[in-house]
Amino acid sequence: MTLTTVLDEIQKRPGTSHRIPIFNPSIGEQIGEFADGGAAAVDEAVARARATYESGVWHGKTSSERARILWRVAELIEERADEIAEIDARNGGMVVTQARGIMSASAELFRYCAGWCTKINGIAHDVRMAGGLSGDKFADIHGYTLKQPIGVAGLITAWNGPFHNAAVKLAPALAAGCSCVLKPAEQTPLSALVMEKILADAGVPEGVVNIVTGYGDTAGAALAAHPGVDKVAFTGSTAVGKKIVQAATGNLKKVMLELGGKSPVLIYDDADVDKAIPAAAMGIFVHSGQGCICGSRVYVQRGIHDRVVEGIAQIARNLRQGGSHDDNVDIGPVISQRQLDRVTGYIEEGKRDGAEVITGGNRRDRPGYFVEPTVLTQTRPDMRLVQEEIFGPVVAVTPFDDEDEVLALANDSVYGLAATAWTRDIGRAHRLAKRLEAGTVTLNCQMVWDPAMPVGGHKQSGWGAEYGIEGIEAYMKTKSVFTML
Ligand code: NAD
Repeated sequence: MTLTTVLDEIQKRPGTSHRIPIFNPSIGEQIGEFADGGAAAVDEAVARARATYESGVWHGKTSSERARILWRVAELIEERADEIAEIDARNGGMVVTQARGIMSASAELFRYCAGWCTKINGIAHDVRMAGGLSGDKFADIHGYTLKQPIGVAGLITAWNGPFHNAAVKLAPALAAGCSCVLKPAEQTPLSALVMEKILADAGVPEGVVNIVTGYGDTAGAALAAHPGVDKVAFTGSTAVGKKIVQAATGNLKKVMLELGGKSPVLIYDDADVDKAIPAAAMGIFVHSGQGCICGSRVYVQRGIHDRVVEGIAQIARNLRQGGSHDDNVDIGPVISQRQLDRVTGYIEEGKRDGAEVITGGNRRDRPGYFVEPTVLTQTRPDMRLVQEEIFGPVVAVTPFDDEDEVLALANDSVYGLAATAWTRDIGRAHRLAKRLEAGTVTLNCQMVWDPAMPVGGHKQSGWGAEYGIEGIEAYMKTKSVFTML
């Protein structure tokens, strides 16, 4: 599907009379629009998903058949990677070569989950129950667990990696045997339609995955609250995550939350600084800081503080920022005018409160939503820009002297998504891994992930985990069965 065909198709989808504009953030211009699906589209989608779940048209297939279909999805993602990347880059602003790179991760995730289809099993127990109801001294009972799909899963995603965010939820949910309703972010709904086509072409039966486009407080809220949905899996901000929890109470649906972060990066004076500096720089500036695990707070041991600040600032100055399809571009725009105003608002407030801008700090003077990569020092822990998630290319660098001090600073956050430590002292590295309050810790490396490694937020960064067997089990329920021998 090309950008033109997908823009054409989304226009025809049913919904309310409320039209939602679609922008290209690289030029700041509207490129299309679509109808807000609203509660009615959610009702229909949930009914379709429920019907397929009850009929067993998907989870009733043999596990090897499901595995083959999910493996085929991975192949089709690879075959169509260029067209998906083109759509995500035009709609989401990510540099097209980087968007293309992420397609391999989406395909690998489907392959990884395909592998699990044939390996999801309960376990057996020999139960010896003293004084069983039969009156025997010991009752011999065979016990086993069944792993079953949780049912209908409502999936709500954020705009920062549109196709991949959908893949991260659909691959494990389908491997587990669920039927799904996916609501992509209203800013970036286009590549979800390509996903819909790929799933159909690969052999996922009609109605098993249903896409509803619309706003969060209309379609998203209806999905989170729907009594026909057994589980809601959400990627987005912590503020909306709390609303999801409240909405889910009606039928006590299970909730998985992948939320915001304010991830610390610790650089000790014994670290390989030549590796740490570029990693810390790209760990915040990649995709203009719109990654949930971006390292937005960097703590540097005092003796090397100035060197690290200057190193990160130098990289920031040299980064080539431009539209998703411009030549030789390292980073693109932020997603929207609203996000541009938010990011520059944090910087302005920080400056008023005494932060020093080492480089950047401004909106770029060109069409589109561009914020310069920005390095700040002289920040304090009580500043909003240190406590709150900015989701832009803005890093605050702070000196520290010793381990207890830096751990107190690093853990002084409501978030607990990711953390990084750079040190050649292996004992210290593992001590920090234990004491840093984060769902993912990277030691002497940054921005690393693998389909087999669970990713989940501690504290207010989330509930549950995606990826790994934990990610598949999140879409399953366990039943205990006892039988008298
Ligand atoms: P957001 O919370 O505003 O929106 C996310 C999704 O929720 C969108 O689809 C939106 O339409 C929907 N939504 C909004 N209000 C809703 C409501 N009341 N009920 C149901 N759904 C609703 O987040 P965003 O600004 O689009 O995305 C950025 C955020 O996502 C950042 O906080 C980032 O850290 C987070 N994120 C987290 C991860 C992770 O794995 N932890 C990954 C990517 C992004």
